Amino acid sequence: MGTQYTRTYWEALLASLRLEGRHFIDGAHRPSRSGLTITRPRPMDGAAGPVLARGDAADVDAAVAAARAAFASGVWRHKEPGDKKKIMLEWAGLIRAHGEELAMLETIDVGKPVTASLNVDVRLCADGIQYYGEMVDKMYDEIAPTGPKARALVRKVPLGVVGAITPWNYPMIIDAWKLGPAIAAGNSVVLKPAEQSSLTAIRLAELAVEAGLPAGVFNVVTGYGEETGKPLALHMDVDMIAFTGSTEVGKLIMGYAAQSNVKRVALELGGKSPLVVFEDADLDAAASAAAWGCFYNSGETCHASTRLIVQRSVQEALVSKIEAVAKNDIVLAHPLDPSAQIGALIEETHMEKVLSMIAAGEQEGARRAFGAERVLAETGGCYISPGVFIDMTNDMSLARQEIFGPVLAAIPFDTEEEALTIVNDTVYGLAGAVFTKDMDRAHRFSEAIHAGTVWINTYDMATFATPFGGFKQSGFGRDRSVHAIDKYCDYKTIWQQFG
Ligand code: NAP
Repeated sequence: MGTQYTRTYWEALLASLRLEGRHFIDGAHRPSRSGLTITRPRPMDGAAGPVLARGDAADVDAAVAAARAAFASGVWRHKEPGDKKKIMLEWAGLIRAHGEELAMLETIDVGKPVTASLNVDVRLCADGIQYYGEMVDKMYDEIAPTGPKARALVRKVPLGVVGAITPWNYPMIIDAWKLGPAIAAGNSVVLKPAEQSSLTAIRLAELAVEAGLPAGVFNVVTGYGEETGKPLALHMDVDMIAFTGSTEVGKLIMGYAAQSNVKRVALELGGKSPLVVFEDADLDAAASAAAWGCFYNSGETCHASTRLIVQRSVQEALVSKIEAVAKNDIVLAHPLDPSAQIGALIEETHMEKVLSMIAAGEQEGARRAFGAERVLAETGGCYISPGVFIDMTNDMSLARQEIFGPVLAAIPFDTEEEALTIVNDTVYGLAGAVFTKDMDRAHRFSEAIHAGTVWINTYDMATFATPFGGFKQSGFGRDRSVHAIDKYCDYKTIWQQFG
C-alpha cells in the first residue's frame, strides 16, 4: 500500500523540515560573503518563508572558481563514462527517494499543490537527470574523411563552466533540463535559481554530491537576479549561460554576454501561445485542453495556451464548456490539500500585477465571461480563480501581454486565413495548437503556426525525447531530447599526419 497523503500528513512533514538556504559551493554550504540574507512570505499562506543567502559578485566568483577548478582537474569529465552514468542514475534515484521532501520544498517556495509537486515536478526532475545519465556512455565522436596519410578526429568537447539561470514556475524541472545535459556533457555548472525558488536547487546539489558527483561540479548561488544572475552572466570565466525566464531579462543576458567574453547563450523565454478551435472540432476535448493548458500551475506556464482563437460560431458553446471544466474539474485549493490541482500564485506583488493587468484589460473593453478574481484571501495566500475574457481582438493588452496568471483571452475568427493571421501576430513563438476534425487543415495549419511545438487536437503532450523551446522572442536553443546536449558542447578537430 502506498502512503495515504492527507493534509495532516503534509502538515506534519512541513513542520519537520529543516530549510537550508545557504549557497552550495564546492560541495559545502556557505553563507553569503556579505552576511546578508533574504526572506519572503510563503505564497500559500503568507507565513514567514525560508531564509536565503543573498549572494553577490563575491559569491559568484567563489562558485565560478570552484566550478573552473573541478573542470580543469578533469575529476568529472575524464571519469569513465560508465562511472559517470552510475553517478547520474544514483542521483536520479535519490531525487525519487527524497520525493516528498523535495515536493514540499517546492510547494513552500512557489505555492503549487504539493500533490502536483510530487507527481509532476519531482518525477520529471528525476526523469530528466536519468535521461541524460543514460546518454553518458552512448555518445560517440567522429572521424572525418581524409586520405590514408592523415587522421582527423572530430571531438565533441564540453564547454567548461556553464552558468544556469532559472525561473520560479517549474524550478526543479527546468533545473533538470539544464543540469542533465550540461553535466552529462562533462561541464561544471553554477546554478542561480530565482530567488523565490531556491530550496529545491540547494537540495538537488546536496543529493548530487551524495550520489558521488565530485565537489565543484554543481554549485548553487542564491540571491536576486541583479546581484547574482548579472555577475554570473557578465563573468569572464563562464563559458555559457543557459537561461530560462522572461524575454525582457533574456535580452539583458545577450547584452551581458556581448559586454563580457562573448560567452554563448541559450534562451528559453516567454510565450503567448494560441490554441485554435475550428467549428468542426470535438468541443469537449478542446475545452478540456484549453482549460488545463491555460489554468494549470495557475497560468504560470511559459507555454500556457493563453490565446483561445475560436471560430465565432462556437465561441459561446466552447467558453461555457471551459467554464464547466474550470469550475468542476480543476480544484483550486490550499496547496497542502491533497485534492488541490491548482494553488497559489508565486507572491503578492505578482498577484497584484496580474489583477492590475486584468483591470487594465477591462478598461480597454475586455468582456469577462467568468472568474479571474482574487479568491481565498482569508488564507493570507495569493490565489486567483481561472477566468476567461471573450470577444477579444488580438490588439488588446490581455491578448498580447504574457500575464502569467490563470487568464484566457478568447478571440473569435471567421475564416481560416484570418485565424492564421491572428495566430502569428505575436512577438512570441513558443507553442500552439489546432483543434479540427479536418486532417488536411490540421496538417496545413500546424505547419503554418510559427512556434517551437505545435499540437493537433491535444495540448501539452511532451516527453524527454522531444525538444522544447521557441522561435522569435521566445528565444533559441532547445531543452530536452538528445539535441539539448549539443549546446553544452563544441566541436574540436585534432589532425594527425602519418609517415
Ligand atoms: P525572470 O524575471 O526573467 O527571471 C528569470 C531568472 O533571471 C531568475 O533567476 C531571475 O532572478 C534572473 N534575473 C532577473 N534579472 C536578472 C538580471 N538582470 N541578470 C541576470 N539574471 C536575472 O522570469 P521569472 O519571472 O522568474 O519567470 C517567468 C518567465 O519565465 C516568464 O516570462 C516565462 O514565460 C518564462 N519561462 C520560459 C520558459 C521556457 O522554457 N521558454 C519556461 C519557464 C518560464 P530573480 O528572480 O532572483 O531576480
